[in-house]
Amino acid sequence: MSYNLAKFRNQLLQFGLCATADMEHQLIRYYEILTEWNKIMNLTTITDFDEVLEKHFLDSVSIANYVEFSEIIRLIDVGTGAGFPGIPLKILYPHINVLLVDSLNKRVNFLNDVIGQLQLKNIEAVHGRAEELARKKEYRNQFDLCVSRAVANLASLSEYCLPFVKIGGIFAAYKSIEIDSEVEQSKKALCLLGGELKDVKKFELPDTEYSRSIVIIENKEVTSKKYPRKAGIPGKQPLGME
Ligand code: SAM
Repeated sequence: MSYNLAKFRNQLLQFGLCATADMEHQLIRYYEILTEWNKIMNLTTITDFDEVLEKHFLDSVSIANYVEFSEIIRLIDVGTGAGFPGIPLKILYPHINVLLVDSLNKRVNFLNDVIGQLQLKNIEAVHGRAEELARKKEYRNQFDLCVSRAVANLASLSEYCLPFVKIGGIFAAYKSIEIDSEVEQSKKALCLLGGELKDVKKFELPDTEYSRSIVIIENKEVTSKKYPRKAGIPGKQPLGME
């Protein structure tokens, strides 16, 4: 099958990105594996090629404008699902070492198939809940950047994500444009967790009508060992909103 990437290339350029031919092949193969597996399990409701390019791939790499990726060595994607945003970021930035985390094992099996077929190096998919993995020494305060898209409200997500981040590192939450009240409600959680809100970037995906935001939080202090609380609690009783 032939795929037309002309519009996507132009959209990437507007984020200052340019995919090599090898990267484009990897993205196309990723799309094919995603839609094959999607026939037997629920990975995405978006299956049209052009829509996957925009709503998954372009959205995943939209952070490029706001984070200096040459300084990122280790990245963790919490609640990656079918690999968003972690896999497109790994394809566009092959130098980064990526850990994909998801609490559903069948999604991790899919991710391992993608990693194998695309021959991606320095990337691992781990099955587990963020609340449990964040307590392990090998993951705690180890990452320059933690990303997460469509997983939980910002207060809960901060409790999942900040413990993974190095001091001075960044937690970036991919959100819809309607984010102001969620940011407001997460302020107490950020204070308790030692994170500091740096910026809320609001933008449109180039040449689309889709509005997005990325919330940028810096990990300022070593998070208390109390956090994250037991699995399930951060989601049910978001910090500062109990
Ligand atoms: N990030 C992907 C995306 O944007 O398409 C997936 C979003 S999906 C709506 C949420 C994913 O987060 C699911 O795959 C779910 O299994 C995972 N998840 C939810 N809570 C989690 C937790 N506490 N730890 C790890 N994964 C979690």
